[in-house]
Amino acid sequence: MIQSVRTFAGKKPCLDILIPYVSLHLACFALLITGISWRGVAIFLGSYFVRAFGLGVGYHRYFAHRSFKTSRAFQFVLAVLGSVAIQRGVLWWAETHRYHHRHADTPGDIHSPRYQGFLYAHAGWFVDQKNRETKVTGVSDLAKFPELNWLNDWKWYCVPVGTYTLLLYLFFGGEGLVWGLAVSTVILWHTTHWIQSMSHSYGGYRRFSSEDHSRNHWLLGVLSLGEFHNNHHHAPSSSRQGVVWWEFDFGYYILRILSWFGVVWDLKLPPKSTGPSAIQPQLEQNL
Ligand SMILES: [Zn+2]
Ligand SMILES: [Zn+2]
Repeated sequence: MIQSVRTFAGKKPCLDILIPYVSLHLACFALLITGISWRGVAIFLGSYFVRAFGLGVGYHRYFAHRSFKTSRAFQFVLAVLGSVAIQRGVLWWAETHRYHHRHADTPGDIHSPRYQGFLYAHAGWFVDQKNRETKVTGVSDLAKFPELNWLNDWKWYCVPVGTYTLLLYLFFGGEGLVWGLAVSTVILWHTTHWIQSMSHSYGGYRRFSSEDHSRNHWLLGVLSLGEFHNNHHHAPSSSRQGVVWWEFDFGYYILRILSWFGVVWDLKLPPKSTGPSAIQPQLEQNL
């Protein structure tokens, strides 16, 4: 187990994270130069989808929750795809997310809109110096793989991110950098941030009476390839997060297809009590 409770007094931004974070937001204004085109939108969709998969299925469902099994080679592929989402290294991401689940919506949570404020839960925690360090003791099961440690190290982490950026430029030129990198990364950032802020505060619906204040948002579920957050907090180790047909869980659909080819296996499912017969939609507000 890692440290018991984090405190958030004296918040201070970490400049080597804040500067790229702000820069990529500003780079989106280059759309005023390149203009909007179908080619640009297609580049955006392709880049977004690949990295949302790497983040949602790789970083979240596999590394943070071990909700399925795979080979060491495909594990590495998932780590690289998650890395190019530019949400920091795989060990850091998995550890901070496990920490969130252990302390969800308590004073010790790393990003709770209830205790740290909406904006801090949305993005502030991501650039806060306090959260910069990777607490490897919280991910000892992952830290035993040297290739994951390399990818988590800042200088090696830049290799997949730099290579991805270069490929976008070589294949698609300026549109690749604007649509494929800047716009795609910023929207993916805020999709993830939405889970930490909105999905623990306002709107949507609660299907299960979890002890935290997690909520499902249908649009977020679609944009994030299946992150229905209240369902997820109810059964965090499940590889499937949508529990009825209209909760489109594209991440799980892809995992099912990959399982047919033996790329992944032992997909964990929600307990029987989580099935449609146990559905208890709740619409109460929690803040
Ligand atoms: Zn949560
Ligand atoms: Zn989770």
